[in-house]
Parts: sequence; C-alpha cells; structure tokens
Amino acid sequence: MNAAAEIGVIGGSGLYALLEDAEEFDVSTPYGAPSDPITVAEVGGRRVAFLPRHGRDHRYPPHKIPYRANLWALRALGVRQILAPCAVGGLRPELGPGTFVVPDQLIDRTSGRVHTFYDAGAVHLSFADPYCPNGRAVLLRTEVEPVDGGTMVVVEGPRFSTRAESRWFASIGGTVVNMTGHPEAVLARELALCYSTIALVTDLDAGVAGDHGVTQEEVFRVFAANTARLRGVLMDAVTRLPTVRDCVCATALDGIKLPFDLP
Ligand SMILES: [Zn+2]
Repeated sequence: MNAAAEIGVIGGSGLYALLEDAEEFDVSTPYGAPSDPITVAEVGGRRVAFLPRHGRDHRYPPHKIPYRANLWALRALGVRQILAPCAVGGLRPELGPGTFVVPDQLIDRTSGRVHTFYDAGAVHLSFADPYCPNGRAVLLRTEVEPVDGGTMVVVEGPRFSTRAESRWFASIGGTVVNMTGHPEAVLARELALCYSTIALVTDLDAGVAGDHGVTQEEVFRVFAANTARLRGVLMDAVTRLPTVRDCVCATALDGIKLPFDLP
C-alpha cells in the first residue's frame, strides 16, 4: 500500500471516479474526514490522488463540502499540485453548453462558509492571481481547446441564480458561475498548493440571452455527455504538470509564520 501522491484531482459533479487500478485510502485530518476515501494510482509515471468533491454518491451539496479536510488530506498524502474540474453556467451567450473554460480570476459571492485555515494570528496571503499559472498552461494545451481566461463567480447555492443576479454577474465581469470554486481555491493557496481549474459549461445562466432558466436535469445531462472528454483531458494533463514548482503558489508562504505546522 502506497498512499503517496504528488498530484491531486478533485472531481466535480458527474466525475466521481478517475483512476484505474487505484488503491483507496481513508485519510483523517484535524478538520474531519474528506468528502470520500482518496484513491491513488500511477498515471504516466506520476503518482495521482483522486477525490470526488461531493463524495462518490454526491451526498455533499456545495455549501456542505468539507473543503478544509479535502485540501489538508491531499497535502498530507504529498500532493502539491491540484487540478480541480467543475461544472459552471455560462454568463456569455457565446459560451454554450459543452464549452471548456480555464478561468484566471474569481469573484467570491458565497456566504457563511469556513474559508480559511488561519484562525489565529495575522496571516494575509496574496490572492491576486488565484490560479496556478503552470497548471493553467497545461490545461490550456489539451485537445478540448478551452477558452483561455475568464472570471468565475462563485455563488452560495444550492439554488441557481435569478435572472437579475445573473445579469449583474455578467455586468461586473463574470464569465461563468459556479458553487464550489471558493473556498477551494483559497484553501489550496493557504497550504501553498498549486491549484487550477477547468470549467465545463453545462448551461447558459438565467438572464443570458436566449436561455430558458437553468434546470438540474440539463446540468447533469450535459456533464454526462462530456465526462469522457473531461477524463481524457485530466489523464493527459497530470502527466504534463511540471516536476519542479517555480510558481507563486509554491512560494506563497515564504517568510510567513503560520499558526500551525503544515502536513
Ligand atoms: Zn503553482
């Protein structure tokens, strides 16, 4: 049994398994158990850990996901780079269902979630660029030809947006809308983990020209139709991530005194 891994993949809605011939590990953390046991396998010479964000039976809604336990558990296994695919609604009419986007910015509209590991002391990290540039570059060079850049608005959910909210998100620069991208991205940065996301547009959000309002059925249908493509993207991307980290994420905690020891 070898639980050690260097790369983590956090699977979103519709992606509940990824690795073949994987070993499964229950990992405990100071923040409780992660969403599911973590599976680990070798992919193209790299040790990869997979964790379904909502649990394999999708038992955790976005606002109940144990985000801190998930990031801590991955780091404890040795993971330093994370790819975190997710489903999103498009806020632009040109971003139709089936489009992939690699965002470069994030706007947090969640509320009431535990969004930090830093519950003591004065620790203020730079989060100007929330995603790892190396991870983004790898995800952009994949066969699904993702849109390069965009701002992901993260809402509390679990309901979808009203038409007015959706129009507002677009007007303030939002490109896509989602329910899990925060605090996941910031918790990764707080542990000096590389984190990047590839977002699959499953619907046009309410308020976008030509839409008829979002339904859960439509979201899951589009995700199911694209799961094989997404799996291919991820299995390819994990083999091309850098072996040496030279990015802002790796040095995020340099010179900073944390209120705990990193795993
Ligand atoms: Zn990085």
